[in-house]
Amino acid sequence: MAKTLAHDGYKPGDVILEAPVPYVQMICSQYRGKICNFCFKESESLKKCTGCGWMFYCDKKCQKSDWAAETRPGHKHECPVLKVLSFVDSVVDQGMLTSLSDMFFAAVRMIANHRVKPSLRKVTVNVLGIDRCYDDLISRLEEIKSDPQMSQSMGRLQPLYKQIFDSDVSLDEICEANGAFLENSLHITDPITKVKLGRAVYLESSIFNLHSSNPNATPVFLGNKLQILAIKSIPPSQPLHIP
Ligand SMILES: [Zn+2]
Ligand SMILES: [Zn+2]
Repeated sequence: MAKTLAHDGYKPGDVILEAPVPYVQMICSQYRGKICNFCFKESESLKKCTGCGWMFYCDKKCQKSDWAAETRPGHKHECPVLKVLSFVDSVVDQGMLTSLSDMFFAAVRMIANHRVKPSLRKVTVNVLGIDRCYDDLISRLEEIKSDPQMSQSMGRLQPLYKQIFDSDVSLDEICEANGAFLENSLHITDPITKVKLGRAVYLESSIFNLHSSNPNATPVFLGNKLQILAIKSIPPSQPLHIP
């Protein structure tokens, strides 16, 4: 059933909402080291996080913005976990390690941060009159667990999670984080070339019906800033759909 909310209607080109920064974001693995992990700008001279060696930033400002924030998961709690990843060789083969997806990194970030700071799950944004927090997102936990292929692929990575977190990570924790990212993330695309650079979950966009094949609005990205524009005339209170 489509999500509905009260609004006064939109005409094509209207800005429905703006979100300055995602709750969690990850760049596609093929762009690691080529695009800033915070602002998504391309650069030849990104600086590597010396803590973990996995994240790259334009400068201190971007690094600081990604490190710790009151309202969203940050690199601070994930950096020691990713550091261990560089030394992992026993439980997974090197092929798997180099092909770890943006979804894996997003899940690690969420698990690491939600473990240390469970209150993040309740941080609320008000969007068009509706309060949304991480716990309001659809995670499809039960659906993933009951899908043999999905639960098998999550289960295959469980020893890796255990090794990098240095403690048991339950299949529920893994499926919930991956499910939340899969279900709620938008593809961040270059505004000019339309190339997919990464994916991000915005609490703000969770009021929309996502991954729609018949959208009436579209996301536009400036770096990691999101704008959602109406692309059709949308009568008052009609459900909002984005691709
Ligand atoms: Zn940057
Ligand atoms: Zn780091």
